[in-house]
Amino acid sequence: PPAARVRNLTKTYGLGQALVTALDDVTLDIAAGEFSAVMGPSGSGKSTLMHCCAALDTADTGSVFIGEQDLTKLKDKGLTRLRRDEIGFVFQSFNLVPTLTAEENITLPMSIAGRRPDREWYDNVIATVGLGDRLKHKPNELSGGQQQRVAVARALASRPRIVFADEPTGNLDSRSGAEVLELLRRSVDDHGQTVVMVTHDPVAAAYTDRVVFLADGRVVDELRDPTREQVL
Ligand code: ADP
Ligand code: ADP
Repeated sequence: PPAARVRNLTKTYGLGQALVTALDDVTLDIAAGEFSAVMGPSGSGKSTLMHCCAALDTADTGSVFIGEQDLTKLKDKGLTRLRRDEIGFVFQSFNLVPTLTAEENITLPMSIAGRRPDREWYDNVIATVGLGDRLKHKPNELSGGQQQRVAVARALASRPRIVFADEPTGNLDSRSGAEVLELLRRSVDDHGQTVVMVTHDPVAAAYTDRVVFLADGRVVDELRDPTREQVL
């Protein structure tokens, strides 16, 4: 089955006259072992879609399946288990725990899940994010770019089946961005993970297998094996 299936997902924010339709009847399949990008103007619903797919938010109507599991049918316990064991998430605002070091933040989901990392993969993730001695520092001692790399490492370290990343290279210079994108690419190619990434960057989109374009909460276009020029 697809890694994720979105069916007729609709979500509206606000009340009365201030009603905003963030998602408007979105239907989408995310194939297992594929690296996808979600692109579209600011406010087109990209973050809302990612949050609904990752069980961090709920839609008004429609359904989301992660593998065989229908998120709308799961209770809190099931959702917690799913988020803990099967999903990695890179938040746009990082969401690091301020009292923990970078390294403790990275290993936190695994500690909670009681899982040991595959040593080789973990070392590869740590090496690629390139934090060096900064691993022992707390988030407020790190630059935005460094915090972003911690957030990416945290999502990938336990090798969850599916990773949702909300602009994972948004705060990185082009070289660090390329390293993170190659890490995401490798997690798909070498480890069969599924990655869905929101991005505004055509260079980032060119790393993916497929781009889905959103506008006004709807899927308006789709492109396979995108080149940078095609998404400019
Ligand atoms: P994108 O990620 O593409 O920028 P979002 O999913 O963040 O889009 O937002 C889609 C629409 O929903 C926007 O019009 C946004 O203003 C609105 N929206 C998002 N989150 C909230 C919220 N918590 N409360 C009210 N409106 C929201
Ligand atoms: P990056 O390119 O990763 O965003 P910057 O150029 O912003 O890094 O930061 C350069 C150096 O300054 C880094 O070694 C970083 O650790 C340090 N630094 C940046 N912001 C802070 C901060 N708020 N507190 C302490 N050190 C910081």
